[in-house]
Amino acid sequence: MKCSKCRRDAILFQRYSGLHLCEQHFNRDFEAKAKRAIREHRWIESGGDTVAVALSGGARIRAPSSSSSTGSSASAVTSG
Ligand SMILES: [Zn+2]
Repeated sequence: MKCSKCRRDAILFQRYSGLHLCEQHFNRDFEAKAKRAIREHRWIESGGDTVAVALSGGARIRAPSSSSSTGSSASAVTSG
C-alpha cells in the first residue's frame, strides 16, 4: 500500500479521511493535530516552545473471556 500523498509505503490508513499515509506524512498530520489540540486545551503554559509527542504503535489488549467456573481466572495483557 502506498501513501496517498507521496510514493512511499503507507504505514496506516486514516478512515475518516480515506487516506493512506506513510510515516512522514502521518507524523506531520499528527503533529499538526497535536499542536492544535495543545493550543485549544492549553496543555502547555505560555513560554514553552518544545513539544514532545510520544506515539505508541500497535498496542494490543487481550480481554480474557470470563467464565463462571470455580476458582480459576486468567488474564493476559500484552502491550507493544
Ligand atoms: Zn507520504
